[in-house]
Amino acid sequence: MKKWLVVLIVLSLILSVGFQATCNENETVTVPLVVVYLESPDQIAALLEAGLDIVGIDLVNLEIEVVLNDYDREYLDNAGLKYDILIEDLTYYGPETTEFGIMSMGREDYRQWHEIEEELQTFEEIYPDLTRLHILGHSHQGRPIYALEISAAPGVNDGRPESVHMALYHAREWPTTEMALDLAWYLLDNYGIEEKVTNIVNTIRVWIIPVVNPDGYVHSQNVYQMWRKNRRHNSDNSWGVDLNRNHSYNWGGVGSSGVTTSDTYRGPSPTSEPELWAIRDLFLGRHIITTLSGHTHGRYVLWSWGYKPDLIPDHSVHADLGYQYQAFNGYPMNRVGPSNTTIYATSGASDDWVYGVFRGISFTFEYGTAFIPPYMGTITTANQLVTEQFGTISGNLLTFSVLPGGGER
Ligand SMILES: [Zn+2]
Repeated sequence: MKKWLVVLIVLSLILSVGFQATCNENETVTVPLVVVYLESPDQIAALLEAGLDIVGIDLVNLEIEVVLNDYDREYLDNAGLKYDILIEDLTYYGPETTEFGIMSMGREDYRQWHEIEEELQTFEEIYPDLTRLHILGHSHQGRPIYALEISAAPGVNDGRPESVHMALYHAREWPTTEMALDLAWYLLDNYGIEEKVTNIVNTIRVWIIPVVNPDGYVHSQNVYQMWRKNRRHNSDNSWGVDLNRNHSYNWGGVGSSGVTTSDTYRGPSPTSEPELWAIRDLFLGRHIITTLSGHTHGRYVLWSWGYKPDLIPDHSVHADLGYQYQAFNGYPMNRVGPSNTTIYATSGASDDWVYGVFRGISFTFEYGTAFIPPYMGTITTANQLVTEQFGTISGNLLTFSVLPGGGER
């Protein structure tokens, strides 16, 4: 690439995204999305075991989509596998003027980590009777794992049903944090106004965990956008564990990798990561019935099992709710189901842990059509459509609907 072009791109990044001065050192790293052509279904298991950064698998045409980080490129070249570029550059270059003319909470771009911390502090000031801000634990680099509790009776453990909405297990999946925080504002701003919201807040204890992986988020925003894992410094000097492969339930199996440089590296042992100690400790002390974990992308609604192709005993409860969400957001019908058979095998993911250990109703939502789509804002009135870029707040409210007080189905 020509030098002046690099300078222009870096300049436009600084201007449009407002990155801090220290943030632009690696802004010209571009990571493509590729389609890899396979010859037999057996190769898929090998690629999952190798821990390629797989986005989707097409079993009919024997094609997989891979985020081509250095590790993936090296692996594919060594294996002699052919691939073509689908998207040359997955980098997010700043907000787009929204055709809807509505920016979330007056925002015009994705929240930076320091903005999230500041924003979280304001909830208790504005809604002291409905919120408590908790720190569940700390990341490898010492950043807090925050949980915002929303309830008409905050700060007590009275056995009422609880619902957890988690976001940003994966560093590059920025829209998930936007969705989580806007859901929090939506519940609070509409308490006492919308009957359904009032019922939820009166009867259910809601936990919003906007950033499970703060170190990864900061790394993705400042250094390498397509970063996925946390920032554990591995013993071989590589970096990161995939937090959504590190949960203890059936940890270590297919769909996770033992290779430290892989993007699906499962970590040295089950629940080895402090970010997950925080999540675990919340669940152990609580009465959590429904859980939603936000990811991008693909417009999928997924549940357990990830580690094996069998149906869970509570499949029909999940399917009932899952198809409502799919219909609400207009996601494709064939992208709703157990993750193992709907997208690909995973071991150590959050849904298997929540369902396997607690028998909780647990969903993974894969919002939208890109890891970091152009920012268009989410909106805080329930029934306005945010299009395929994200999902809708109302869609997320469906996860409350199986709980007493959670409104109509
Ligand atoms: Zn993800």
